[in-house]
Amino acid sequence: MSSAAWREPGCHPVVDGVFRIPLDLPQDGLRAVNVYALETDAGLALIDGGWHRDDTHRELADALASIGRSPSEIHDVFVTHSHRDHYTFAVELRRRYGTRVHLGAAEGPGLAAIARLNNNVPEASLREARRAGAGDLADAMYAATVDEPFDIADWEAPDSWLTGGVLDLPGHRIEAVETPGHTKGHLVFHDLDTPIAYTGDHILPTITPSIGFELGDWDLPLGKFLASLEMMVDDKRVIAPAHGAVGGEVGERARALLEHHAGRFAEIEELLAGGDRVTGLDVARYLPWTRRRVPFTALDTFNQLVAVCETMAHLDVLAARGTAHVHDRDGIDVFRI
Ligand SMILES: [Zn+2]
Repeated sequence: MSSAAWREPGCHPVVDGVFRIPLDLPQDGLRAVNVYALETDAGLALIDGGWHRDDTHRELADALASIGRSPSEIHDVFVTHSHRDHYTFAVELRRRYGTRVHLGAAEGPGLAAIARLNNNVPEASLREARRAGAGDLADAMYAATVDEPFDIADWEAPDSWLTGGVLDLPGHRIEAVETPGHTKGHLVFHDLDTPIAYTGDHILPTITPSIGFELGDWDLPLGKFLASLEMMVDDKRVIAPAHGAVGGEVGERARALLEHHAGRFAEIEELLAGGDRVTGLDVARYLPWTRRRVPFTALDTFNQLVAVCETMAHLDVLAARGTAHVHDRDGIDVFRI
């Protein structure tokens, strides 16, 4: 399959009564987000809601029409996490059809923080960038996002907050599993009657999920993510991801992601072993980025911010493990071996 084939619009059968529906993300590097439609005794349920854009409803309606269905039949949406490409169209479905929306309980503080801020500024990530010594980058990102179109109505609270356990979904036995890391309240959904795991952004087939890109406290997100991967290393289920085609084994991909981060730690420790005192920005500039291993300076402003936060996530884990020592220099964290 070519790398773009998974984005082909339509209702792609996954298992009996389950369809993968890719929805366009035109301005986003991920290019599309999958929602999964599950036929139920009462109509349809969705895993993830998609991003509320002008075209989203038409795209979803066209896809569902190909199997003789309509968005008005969607009675519940179970959302893996509160990023806008997963959550905001679930809220729009509720507005149109009274659809019930469900989200992981630990997403609550992040959602409340968005309502408080009332704009698109990734405030917590800017705070981490400043702690990394990347104040200029934080300023540039603030200027780029503060006037972005933003509609607080996209971020209304869900109808229910989920923790782990079997969902109330007649006709399907789906278990929510708490997988903090990508975000604090991220959920993976296991289909107990088929080998499918709806992995959201926790396990993606070809890319490494960003870590801690959300509002609220910065609470060792990479440590949580690694623990959420560790518990899946023997998982034989098939990956039904939020971005990409269905396929591949959860456990194998979890092990590969753990290996990627082990490699990252090794690269950072190598730098620290030189004895220098370094900031997060120093380390981010030293590391290669993306699968193509390009330099930090080749990334755009947004991806530089993500890279700096990711670097801080790694440095914080090294500090928590006692491998690195950290001290504060005028609000900037300085790390040494
Ligand atoms: Zn996400």
